[in-house]
Amino acid sequence: MSDTKQAVWDAIDADPDFVTELTQELVRIPSVNPKFETGDGLNRESDVQAILEERLKGLGFDTAQDEVFPNRPNLIADLAGNEDRSLILCGHIDVVPVGARSDWSVDPWGGERKDGRIYGRGAVDMKSGVAACVAAYHFIRKAGLTLDGRFSIHSVVDEEAGGFGAMHAVRQGQLAKGAIVTEPTWGMVQPAEGGLEWVRVTLFGRSGHAGFRYNDIFPQPDVDGRLKPAINAIELANRFLTALRDFEQSRCRNNYHPLCPPGLSTINPGVFHGGVGLGEDGLPQIRSNPAMTPDTAVIDLDYKYLPHEDSFEVRREFEAFVKAFADTDPWMREHPPKVQWELGGLHFPAMDTPVDHPLVQSLIGDHEIIEGKAPPIRGFDAVTDAAHYAGAGVDSVIYGPTGDGFHGIDEYVDIASLLRVTKVVAGAVIDHCGLR
Ligand SMILES: [Zn+2]
Repeated sequence: MSDTKQAVWDAIDADPDFVTELTQELVRIPSVNPKFETGDGLNRESDVQAILEERLKGLGFDTAQDEVFPNRPNLIADLAGNEDRSLILCGHIDVVPVGARSDWSVDPWGGERKDGRIYGRGAVDMKSGVAACVAAYHFIRKAGLTLDGRFSIHSVVDEEAGGFGAMHAVRQGQLAKGAIVTEPTWGMVQPAEGGLEWVRVTLFGRSGHAGFRYNDIFPQPDVDGRLKPAINAIELANRFLTALRDFEQSRCRNNYHPLCPPGLSTINPGVFHGGVGLGEDGLPQIRSNPAMTPDTAVIDLDYKYLPHEDSFEVRREFEAFVKAFADTDPWMREHPPKVQWELGGLHFPAMDTPVDHPLVQSLIGDHEIIEGKAPPIRGFDAVTDAAHYAGAGVDSVIYGPTGDGFHGIDEYVDIASLLRVTKVVAGAVIDHCGLR
């Protein structure tokens, strides 16, 4: 096998421009996720998919464009083969906005190459990763090899706004035994990733006129039956957030995964709404009048959990915490807070592929041969599309190039790392799919 791989790697060294030029070509087509920003010529995800489809058809793939949102298709490319050795390479082609163009020292859509780097929005996150997937197979084919296992490339949309492209592919049953997502990992092999939930907690009080609030401070004798103390939902929320902070700290202290930094299981209160009345949209109807005691408080949380934790258990534990909190108060016992999961449809399952899995070991081994030293093996701090495949039972791992400026200015990918990723991924495809 090592001679075979060496032949592919030599072919990559002989034509290093293949993957760099494809990366430049993709960077030059703005494909900003329209959920962040829309504009003339800015949201060209479908044009990127058209270019990739042309390439992949030329390599013998069966291709299909599958719309996730109007004019925002996933591109699914398949080479038939043995299911037991099936593999998906996945990357996303949407990018985040460039921000203030004047902050960039290069054209964000120029794909400029200088100092061993390719610059532009999406250069490292992650059009280079997508180019590496296509290039890996281009060179396998060029070396005259035929894969045994079914081999697929998924070029998906909408990763930056929740992973709805990959989620869609998974829901359509586009799965395999293994998957590699080529998000930038700076040479690390990342077989684990925590899960992420967006969860909304709504607390209910009782509205009243702020003029009667003195009764809360100095309860008055209710001589004529007019006094019905209000219950301020914002103040309930304040108590809830204090309790939540303690709960978060105990989760962070008591849960640990060997590939993740300590304390990764955070619960971030991200959005707060307080006011009167619960509208059909789940938010208070009146949010602008401090003379009314608010009876509705809505808190949206970004809830992270560790790779080995099960989302069902995580939800049960949190709901038990909310119930225990409510039980400390006679009013909340009667009017319990409401917990809603999958806010905005967002749900990233956890991924915990064993380090000794053959797909992971293949990446580690080939990286070591090419770089002369073993790669760091870590969990991924944020979330990627790998979560959706892992959640559907696909053994998944993240491995990609080095760069900087993603979601910032002067984004670039390091070309040497891109060639290395192309080689290591090609090696993993050969190992996992096998040859006929
Ligand atoms: Zn990305």
